[in-house]
Amino acid sequence: MEMTPQRWRFTGEYSRQVFGSQDAHLAGLMQEAVSEGLPDIAVSADVGRLLMILTSMTRGRLALELGTLAGYSAIWIARGLAADGRLITIEREPDHAEFARKQFALAGVDHKIELRCGAALDLLSRLAGEIGPGSVDMVFLDAAKTEYPEYFRIVRPLVSVGGLVLADNVLGGGSWWIDDLGSQERQAADQLNRLLAADPDFEAVAVPIRSGVLIGRRMRDADSR
Ligand code: SAM
Repeated sequence: MEMTPQRWRFTGEYSRQVFGSQDAHLAGLMQEAVSEGLPDIAVSADVGRLLMILTSMTRGRLALELGTLAGYSAIWIARGLAADGRLITIEREPDHAEFARKQFALAGVDHKIELRCGAALDLLSRLAGEIGPGSVDMVFLDAAKTEYPEYFRIVRPLVSVGGLVLADNVLGGGSWWIDDLGSQERQAADQLNRLLAADPDFEAVAVPIRSGVLIGRRMRDADSR
C-alpha cells in the first residue's frame, strides 16, 4: 500500500487517539505551557506512553533526560521508574525549568525528579563524573538536535547493560525530514542513528512514530565482547 500524506496524517491521529489516553493534568499541561509563552514542541501522548513503557522495562533506578521543556515527557518517564528510581532532567531555559518544576509537584512526581538548569553538554560532562559508568538505565535525548552525536558520546559509557538510549526527532522535525539532505538537524540525527546502528555493544532501531523515536539498547559492555 502506498504511503500518501493523508495516510501518514491519519496514522498519526489514529495512534494518538488509540494509544494517547492521559490524565487531566497531562492533557492540559502543554496548553497551559503555551499560554505562558513556552513553545508547543513536547512529545505526543502516544510517544510519552512509549517512554513510560520502555523505562518500566529497565531496572528503572536512574534515568536522564536532555531537554525538559514544560516537564511533559519527564512526567511520563518518572511514571515508568521503579518505586525508588529517579530522573535527572536538564533544561537550558530558566523559565522552562521553573514551569516544569511546578508541573512535577502537581503530578506528584517531584520527589523522583531533579531538574538541573543549564546547557546540556556542560551539565552532562559534569554529571558523568558524578554518577559513573554503567549507572544509567534510560536516557532520553530531546535537547539541541545538532548536538545529538555529542550527547551520545558522553552518555554511552554511562548506560548500564540492558539500559536504553532513546532520542526524539530522529526521522524528522518541524522544519525538516530525513529525506532533506541539506538540513543540519537531519545530518546530526542521521549521525546519531548510524552511531547506534554500528555500535557493537548496542542494538538499535528507529520507530516511525510521530517524528521518529530511536530505541537503542546496550546488550553488552566492551569487556564481555
Ligand atoms: N522533552 C520535552 C517533552 O517532550 O516534553 C520537550 C523538549 S523540547 C523539544 C527541547 C527543550 O530543550 C527546550 O525546552 C529547549 O529549551 C531545551 N534545549 C535546547 N537546547 C538545549 C541545550 N543545549 N541544553 C539544554 N537544553 C536545551
